Amino acid sequence: MGAPQHFFSLDKNELADFVQSLGMKKFRANQLIQWVYERRIIDFNRMTNFSKPDRLRLSKSLTFESTSILTHQTASDKTEKLLLAIQPDNPVSPTTECVMIPSENTGGGSRQTACVSSQVGCPVGCTFCASGLDGLELNLTTGQIVEQIWQLNKTSQSGQITNVVFMGMGEPLSNLANVMKAVRIITAPWAFNLSARRVTISTVGLPAQIRRLADQLDLPVTLAISLHAPTDDLRKTLIPWAEYTSVDALIDAANYYFDRTGREVTLEYILLRDVNDRPEHARQLAAVAKRIRGNINLIRYNQVKGLPYKRPETENVHTFQNILRSKRVNVHIRASRGRDISGACGQLRHERKTTPLNINIAN
Ligand code: SF4
Repeated sequence: MGAPQHFFSLDKNELADFVQSLGMKKFRANQLIQWVYERRIIDFNRMTNFSKPDRLRLSKSLTFESTSILTHQTASDKTEKLLLAIQPDNPVSPTTECVMIPSENTGGGSRQTACVSSQVGCPVGCTFCASGLDGLELNLTTGQIVEQIWQLNKTSQSGQITNVVFMGMGEPLSNLANVMKAVRIITAPWAFNLSARRVTISTVGLPAQIRRLADQLDLPVTLAISLHAPTDDLRKTLIPWAEYTSVDALIDAANYYFDRTGREVTLEYILLRDVNDRPEHARQLAAVAKRIRGNINLIRYNQVKGLPYKRPETENVHTFQNILRSKRVNVHIRASRGRDISGACGQLRHERKTTPLNINIAN
């Protein structure tokens, strides 16, 4: 018998085909879905509407947790980070990280945002980011992406996920097929049932893939483009893949995305001290922003050990924002979360498994 099938990689039809291949009626897939997604039960022994032989067959053929949690850290601001071994039986398994960020939303309710990874490492290698330091090791499967949602829901002390952002390790659009299928499962009414409007896919900017996402996903997810510089020359010094595209091409792709989905596009801009945080950069950025239907998120750089960039001065951040506002650009400063556990933007790292299996170091 081969490796068990990963439950979280299957959509409803595939699950029906799968249970049929085990000799069961297709409707059994619906019962499995109810146990897992509605009741959050993955112990086959508790699935009492299956016969004992069926439970045995399922337990040998299907797995829910293909990753194991190596560490579970909680920051002073209640942000939680999981380090997951994606080959739990391998003593030097590649690892990936995901983060749960609790916050208040504008209506006074609470929001739990899951920041998930799409790859181990990252092929882009932005010069300010920890995730791309060692390049790309592998693409995560659909199941490994969806499982991050499951693991965060299971372990988080702050509640169940309400929002998902693909802003962890990796470039989601270079693992597009797996990311799109994961988004379909995350938003499916029969599965996690999250509104597509509460899902954000963040990309460094691959114009052809942005168009494919708009055409093929057919869901109103939010697109965030990591611009980080208003001109091609400066962008190329920060983002190696900027060699293959241009700010103009990204603007065209962003406008295409808006036309197809009706969703405004967010431009992400990491402020690096004395690199891209000067008033002239703000004026150039305003000119770019005027060409799309969207808004800008300013992110104060979170320092990474071994990299030369510095966090911007607070005064300069506000000056930068004020220049954009004076030009009627919709701009926000994103709060940094989880910095004391290296769970903030750009700080997620790809590490080799060095700690024993299944240790939970919540602090
Ligand atoms: S910033 Fe994003 S795209 Fe750039 S190296 Fe880091 S994870 Fe990859």
